Amino acid sequence: MRKYIILFIILVISSCQKAEEPPVTVYQIDKGLEYYLQIFLGEAKQRGIDIKTENLIMAFGKTSTEICGQCDKVANGGQRTVTINNDNFCWKEAPFENREALVFHELGHCLLGRIHRDELLPNGAVISIMNSKGNDPYSPCIYALGGDNTCNKTARRSYYIDELFDMKTPIPAWAK
Ligand SMILES: [Zn+2]
Repeated sequence: MRKYIILFIILVISSCQKAEEPPVTVYQIDKGLEYYLQIFLGEAKQRGIDIKTENLIMAFGKTSTEICGQCDKVANGGQRTVTINNDNFCWKEAPFENREALVFHELGHCLLGRIHRDELLPNGAVISIMNSKGNDPYSPCIYALGGDNTCNKTARRSYYIDELFDMKTPIPAWAK
């Protein structure tokens, strides 16, 4: 009987230890998204920010919580899954800058722990890639209307990337 009690205790201890092991995660990146992930990691590295990706899945697929992209997270360092809607509007016909801002927004949720930020800058532009309204804060000019010299917003990219990694980034000159 005593033998069985000891065996029971050993089993309980070993099962407890198992529960404390980190969750099993997967690293799997769709080929079409790898390029954008590498740019993101490069921007993080330039800022001295170490990003762990061993628990990251990035794939094209159907989204349910946001129109063009979605981040699903399992607590305590569990799986992070970025899903990107590759329809014409969100992806296939979107300029590079908008695709990048979309992927960076979802990586902001999944890898930087960021939530939506919907304030506006003094000139009315969104304050962050983490806005919940659209993926075009630094879009090139798609539909040029006469006299609109703010149509091409690509020069704004550096501010938005800075803000993504540091919310305390000061208001840029173009937004005053
Ligand atoms: Zn979002």
